[in-house]
Amino acid sequence: MRGLIWREDLQAVLSENHAIISWTLAVLTELRWGQYVRARLSLAMICSCLLLATLSVIINGQERSSTPNFRREVAVTFDDLPATHGDLLKMRYITSKLLESLKRNNVPTIGFVNEGKLLVRDEADERTALLRQWLDAGYELGNHTYSHVSVDQLPFVAYKEDLIRGEAVTKVLLREQGLSLKYFRHPQLRTGPTPEYKKALDNLLAERGYTIAPVTIDNNDYIFAAVYARAKERNDRELMNKIVRAYIPYMEQVFAHFEKLSVEFLGYEVKQTLLLHANELNADHLDELAQMMKKRGYRFISLSEALKDKAYSLPDAQVKKGLSWLHRWMIAKGLEMRPEPLEPEFITALFHSYRR
Ligand SMILES: [Zn+2]
Repeated sequence: MRGLIWREDLQAVLSENHAIISWTLAVLTELRWGQYVRARLSLAMICSCLLLATLSVIINGQERSSTPNFRREVAVTFDDLPATHGDLLKMRYITSKLLESLKRNNVPTIGFVNEGKLLVRDEADERTALLRQWLDAGYELGNHTYSHVSVDQLPFVAYKEDLIRGEAVTKVLLREQGLSLKYFRHPQLRTGPTPEYKKALDNLLAERGYTIAPVTIDNNDYIFAAVYARAKERNDRELMNKIVRAYIPYMEQVFAHFEKLSVEFLGYEVKQTLLLHANELNADHLDELAQMMKKRGYRFISLSEALKDKAYSLPDAQVKKGLSWLHRWMIAKGLEMRPEPLEPEFITALFHSYRR
C-alpha cells in the first residue's frame, strides 16, 4: 500500500517533469546561437530542480514507509500523584522521569491527585511544586480523593467529605493555568459497594461538575511496581531486569485481551483509556511501554478525545470490585466478565512474601 502511494508520487513527478523537458526542448529549437549559452545555464538549473524533486519523492517515500500504521487510539492516564509511594526525593525522581518520557514519546496525559500526600510537615510547598511540574509540562490534573479512600470501608458522607477535601489545592493550581477541575477517578476503580451508594456518588460527581474518568485497560502494574521498588532498594539489578522483562509482555497481553473484548462486545476497538500509576517502575520504563503501544499501532490521544467514543455513554453496571469499564458495560447487558491475564507466578509470590 505504502509502496503504491510512493510509486504514484514518483510517476506524477516524472510526468510533470516530462512536460517541462518537452517545453524546454521546444524553446531551445526556437533559440538563436547568441542565446544558447544562457539557455544551457537555464537547462542545467531545470535539471538540478528535477533531480532535487525526484530525490525528495524518494526520501518522502522512505519516511512514509517507516511511519507506523496508527489504527488504534489510547489515552494514557496516571493515578496517585504526586507518586504512589516514596519520600520527597523519590517523588521528585518519579515526576521528572515520567514527564521526560511522556514528552519524548509525545504522550498527552492526565494525572489524578491524592492531596493528602502533599501535607507533610515542611514539605508541602515542594510536594505541591511537583504537581505544578505536570501542569507546566502541558498536562491535566484530576481528583482522586484526598486520602485514596476505599469506598467499601467508608459511609457515603465520609467519602463525600474526602472527595471534596481532595479538590482544594488542585483547583487553585488549575486556576493558575486558566483551567478548571473537570475529571474524577475512583480509587481502586471502585464506584460504590451498593446500587444506592453508586447512585449517590454519581449524583454528587454530576452536581460538582465532574466527568468520571473511566478505564478500559485495567491492569496490575502496582504489583510489578511493588516488587520492582524492593529490588531497586537493594540495588538487585538482576531481579529488576527480570521484573521488567516480565512487565512489558504482561502489559502487552492485557492490551491484547481488552482489544479482543472490545471487538467482541462493541464490534470495534474502543478509544482505549489506560490506567498507570505514578511509580518508579513506570518512571524507569515508560519508554518501553510507549514503544510496545506504538508497535501495536496506537496513537496517543487525550482523555477528552477518548471520551468522544460513543461507548463511554453506555450504562456501567454497579459492581463491588474495581473493574474495566468494558466489563462494566458487558455486565450491565447481562454478560459475564472474562478472566484477565495474570502476572507471572514469581511476581505474585514475591509480592505476597513482601506483604507478610
Ligand atoms: Zn489510586
